[in-house]
Amino acid sequence: MKLFDNIKDNLDKISVDTLKERAEAIKNAIPKPSPAKNKNENKKDKKEDIPADSVKCPSCNKIIEKKALGKLKICPECGRLFRMNAKDRIKAIADKDSFKEMDINMEADNPLDFPDYSAKIKGLQEKTGLKDAVKTGICTIGGYECAIGVMDSGFMMGSMGSVVGEKLTRIFEYGTEHKIPVVIFTCSGGARMQEGIVSLMQMAKVSAAAAKHSEAGQLYVTVLTDPTTGGVTASFAMLGDIILAEPKTLVGFAGRRVIEQTIKQKLPDEFQTSEFLLEHGFVDAIVEREKLPDVLATILKLHNCKKEVED
Ligand SMILES: [Zn+2]
Repeated sequence: MKLFDNIKDNLDKISVDTLKERAEAIKNAIPKPSPAKNKNENKKDKKEDIPADSVKCPSCNKIIEKKALGKLKICPECGRLFRMNAKDRIKAIADKDSFKEMDINMEADNPLDFPDYSAKIKGLQEKTGLKDAVKTGICTIGGYECAIGVMDSGFMMGSMGSVVGEKLTRIFEYGTEHKIPVVIFTCSGGARMQEGIVSLMQMAKVSAAAAKHSEAGQLYVTVLTDPTTGGVTASFAMLGDIILAEPKTLVGFAGRRVIEQTIKQKLPDEFQTSEFLLEHGFVDAIVEREKLPDVLATILKLHNCKKEVED
């Protein structure tokens, strides 16, 4: 109590003027943010130079008309792969009109009452036309029937919450019941922090469903697309019987900076790329985007998958 009284006495002695003086001194000691501000302004100016129907390729820095990227979203100048949304990806992979979507209207709840989460979901639903970060269903690829899940980075960076976990679990269960293979295109920033532990549980749930599908003797193929990280990498992305990846895809668990700070070592430049993973045995093959439908069809054929009889 005596100590507390002493502190209180001392605090009382500090006048408001002294506090103001000190605050002013601290303010002046902080470097002015002017250079950074200028940088941002430059950035903004450059952005404004790009017409609405064009994008700047992050690899070759050329301004490319969006139309010129084509259906497969590939830079015509340097071949860089732009991210594809789930709808375009399914169009590019599944046989024409063969995709039948499942659980279309499944929506996320807000189990932790996380501030603004429900509003964020709603806004993204309106913007993307998706209900959550994955589209699932059944389709044929090269005539071979399979259950398919395609994650979409446009919806909260493809993060895995209860809806993503449940929908993927259901396609594994469908695959197990109907004895058909499962193909999943992964793309994710990891677990969805707004759903806390519920989100982490999805890793175990999807993995358990994948294990049952495997025990039933069915094939599971994953295609890693940019970026595949966090809880998705740490669970079903790495469980495929065959793991394919697109070229120059970012695949990892923790981010590069976190690892460098933890192990206090500099990591190689190509660390966490699909090429690095192929070299170290985590990926079976890197497949060019335009060859994916043929390669997947060949894999399904080699594993005696059911071919749909055409009418
Ligand atoms: Zn380019």
